[in-house]
Amino acid sequence: MKRIKIADVLANPTIGETITVKGWVKANRANRFLQINDGSTINNIQAVVDFENFDEALLKRLTTASAVSITGELVESQGAGQAVEVVVETIEVLGDANPDEVQKTVMQPKRHSLEFLREQAHLRFRTNLFGAVFRIRHAVAYAVHKYFNDQRFYYLHTPIITGSDAEGAGEMFRVSTLDPKNPPLNEDGSIDYSQDFFGKPVNLTVSGQLEAELGALALGQVYTFGPTFRAENSNTSRHLAEFWMIEPEVAFNDLKDNMDLTEDFLKYIANYILTNCADDLAFLNEREAKEQKSKPQNERSELSLIERLEFVRDNEFKRLTYTEAIEVLKRSKPYKKKKFKYDVEWGVDLQSEHERYLVEKEFKCPVILTDYPAEIKAFYMRQNDDGKTVAAMDVLFPGIGEIVGGSQREERLDILKKKCADFNIPEEEIWWYLDTRRFGSVPHAGFGLGFERMVMFVTGMTNIRDVIPFPRTPQNAEF
Ligand code: ATP
Ligand code: MN
Repeated sequence: MKRIKIADVLANPTIGETITVKGWVKANRANRFLQINDGSTINNIQAVVDFENFDEALLKRLTTASAVSITGELVESQGAGQAVEVVVETIEVLGDANPDEVQKTVMQPKRHSLEFLREQAHLRFRTNLFGAVFRIRHAVAYAVHKYFNDQRFYYLHTPIITGSDAEGAGEMFRVSTLDPKNPPLNEDGSIDYSQDFFGKPVNLTVSGQLEAELGALALGQVYTFGPTFRAENSNTSRHLAEFWMIEPEVAFNDLKDNMDLTEDFLKYIANYILTNCADDLAFLNEREAKEQKSKPQNERSELSLIERLEFVRDNEFKRLTYTEAIEVLKRSKPYKKKKFKYDVEWGVDLQSEHERYLVEKEFKCPVILTDYPAEIKAFYMRQNDDGKTVAAMDVLFPGIGEIVGGSQREERLDILKKKCADFNIPEEEIWWYLDTRRFGSVPHAGFGLGFERMVMFVTGMTNIRDVIPFPRTPQNAEF
């Protein structure tokens, strides 16, 4: 008999039909009520076993985590808690799970810490929590592609191994096939990379933006969505060494267009998840609500997870300049009471505590900060007429801080060349990028969205390690 997915059975139940369902046993009550899940939905299907009709030996194998195939009639449920259930006619155990071993895992039905779950790469997928998180992660990825496709962007694959180290977005991972114990040396004792695989030092990419600009200045509008690597030794709840980034780049857009695109895009994703992931979202919403109760009043978030998504979808983001933000911060209570750990002065890079104050306390909505001091931003950002600031924008989200970083790019060759010199970027290395400013250069703009930061926002998970299947962080690449 052809297998049917549990999501489809529950969405469209045909009472009286005989069906085959395959999945893993979530719970077994009294060898009579099995909860079976196949990953297609957070909801289980209940299978009712008339144990007198089955072998003792078979019944013993229907333990939590084991894999089964069951066939039986779909009926209206007698019990509370589910609308339909399957009256089992045949059971096949597809894969056993030893109850003594299950005891030691996250499959044991009790609350486990997220840290403990992280140690069990395989079984954490089986939990309701991570099932919900990874189904939603998938939906966010799909929504990203759908949004850009519908808006006639082209998905551009930029390189993962890059020979340019000019992005300046962070520390890079070197890629090499040289023997680390015995690398070829130059006369001065330095490593001779001309003998390496690519004949020069190369790294894992920290951003696909520079390459995306080349595409945008011909194809009009492109986006990248790929793995991104930063060897920053920052053990925070918002940084991974390997993460995924979405980088749209649009010819003829200025900073205002760029902000409009970002805002529309983020609202679209919030709405997509609200509309398409109701069951998983309801579970995460309730989980967070329970967690909130155990927190002190002043640390609880005012809005629930679902309310936060609705808020982002329905409200305009607050837009202000970096200079205005500095003034707001200087007038703030925590500043006056010296509660900020880091200094607030025009010219400093804003720290997470400042960003969160603006979003969570002052404006209570997503914030777009623009026009940052040139010194603290990348070389390619467009110089403003004041000569001091650049057309940068950062989007700040509640609970997350920076979720998007972007800018209008410097399209004027002479100014860009001067910026390269200021930032010590040799023209021989970046000629392929400067070329775009030689053949019909036009204003253009783009941004980078950290995919995992967006998944954190839509799932309410507070540690970035819990929204990626296999997190890579300092000292941690076990599986
Ligand atoms: P942050 O200040 O938070 O370290 P950044 O300024 O280095 O970020 P950008 O270079 O602007 O980040 O990258 C664009 C986006 O990529 C950021 O807004 C963020 O969402 C995401 N991002 C950056 N670094 C990481 C990281 N290590 N792990 C996960 N996401 C990241
Ligand atoms: Mn940034």
